[in-house]
Amino acid sequence: MKTKFIFITGGVVSSLGKGIAAASIGMLLKNRGVKVVNQKFDPYLNIDPGTMNPYQHGEVFVTEDGGETDLDLGHYERFTDVALRKQNNTTAGKVYLSILERERDGGYGGNTVQAIPHVTDEIKNRIIAGGVQTGADVVITEIGGTVGDIESLPFIEAIRQIRQQVGRSRCVFVHLGLLPYLKECGEIKTKPMQHSVKELLGFGIQPDIILCRTERSLTKSIREKLALFCNVASNAVIENRTAKSIYEVPLMLEKEGIAHLLCEQLEIPDERSDLSSWKEMVETLYSLDSVVKIALVGKYVELHDAYLSVQEALIAAGIYHKKRIDIQWIDSELVCTAEDAQKYLSSVHGIIVPGGFGNRGTEGMLLAAGYARERGIPYFGICLGLQIAVIEFARSVLGMSDAHSTEFSTTTEHPVIDLMPDQKGVQLGGTLRLGLYRCTISEGTLAESAYKVHEIQERHRHRYEFNNVFRDRFEGSSMQLSGRNPERDLVEIIELKDHPWFVGVQFHPEFASRPNRPHPLFRDFIGAAVGLRSEAEK
Ligand code: GLN
Repeated sequence: MKTKFIFITGGVVSSLGKGIAAASIGMLLKNRGVKVVNQKFDPYLNIDPGTMNPYQHGEVFVTEDGGETDLDLGHYERFTDVALRKQNNTTAGKVYLSILERERDGGYGGNTVQAIPHVTDEIKNRIIAGGVQTGADVVITEIGGTVGDIESLPFIEAIRQIRQQVGRSRCVFVHLGLLPYLKECGEIKTKPMQHSVKELLGFGIQPDIILCRTERSLTKSIREKLALFCNVASNAVIENRTAKSIYEVPLMLEKEGIAHLLCEQLEIPDERSDLSSWKEMVETLYSLDSVVKIALVGKYVELHDAYLSVQEALIAAGIYHKKRIDIQWIDSELVCTAEDAQKYLSSVHGIIVPGGFGNRGTEGMLLAAGYARERGIPYFGICLGLQIAVIEFARSVLGMSDAHSTEFSTTTEHPVIDLMPDQKGVQLGGTLRLGLYRCTISEGTLAESAYKVHEIQERHRHRYEFNNVFRDRFEGSSMQLSGRNPERDLVEIIELKDHPWFVGVQFHPEFASRPNRPHPLFRDFIGAAVGLRSEAEK
């Protein structure tokens, strides 16, 4: 089968859930036996979101091959369960960088380098490569931003050209826009959507399907009006109602017949689909009434998207244990004293310290880790959260009162977290350990009882490591180094022996969690939190 393409564009306003729509479409087609791959093309000029402020961009999602990508790739992976690659997230920055490098190398043979055809060709090649190299039957490409943005023009032109070259039966345009509801007149308004479709038409693209983000259900007359003025069949006007959970969206879109329409146009047999287990998961999620409270102690808590995959992994573990997870978002900078820790943490059933960079807020995280350690509250430290647990333990239990990470203090006598010798002196940008690395797990540990195997691979994104110089001092203590990377002998997992559940991991398990298959460590962390909750009730 020749690769087929689905393009998703957005209009009217941003943040309508294009990523969720694209992920849902991927899931519905995969469910029909189609080999899909989702990708995101972002018109901004950064090379990748790796160096962007989480407040502007949300979390950086890490792929198995070490790509630092847009958080929508996390939605794609969670919905389709297809592992994506670096190349599935392209930015205008990457496109221009490769063109400019080629130009400097004389790769254009003296020609003038122009937006058309050079930039558009580079975009087209990357769209096609992202699918072909993964062997997908259908490549679903979301174009970031909103139609009409100046920076997205070459992307829109590139997808127009792909359609012209491969034809309608190998290429579908889906356009998502907002239908605002005006309370005053009690009406859903279609005009912004009409304008958005016209704008797209101005660039030579007639959408085949329009996805209508709406708070209210669409009447037949609204559908007909939209069909007439947006120039699509009336069954191609798809309602995309705001759902209580993002996981309900594919079920809603299935009912609206979107997958059937896509199969029809792409000439793919619309095989019977079975969404029963996904449906069951959503029903379970909606029926949860008993709650466990988890404190997430970090410095970007005002924007929950900064910890998106952690949040989704907690929800998934909650579904598994039939508990609704109430995340208490705690700004670590507000935790300055033991009294603050008591104030914010005394009523929670588990504490999680997620990944992060920079010194700001780390003292609050140290207090939180100490609070969890002393009071037997389940603790899960991810990446920075492991480092925090190690520093806190070194200071409070092993008597190294100035223990620190050299990321935060260069003068400490006890750099329990440090750069490895081969990283020192290397430029900052080149030293992150990214992507999948192996980890072997020791017997008789919490890690072993979670994973049930002795060798795993997990995704990493960090620079600093547990400092093996201090290994002996930890090995004789109640902190166990329960996982290590065999190639470089790096500590990957730590845990406490005399505690109900206290685990730190140098990697990011949240990226591998799926809504219907929680990550084993998140599952056991929430299991322990549920245990604490029932004890508290006794
Ligand atoms: N800042 C720490 C490091 O670079 C932790 C990174 C993280 O939590 N992702 O090692």
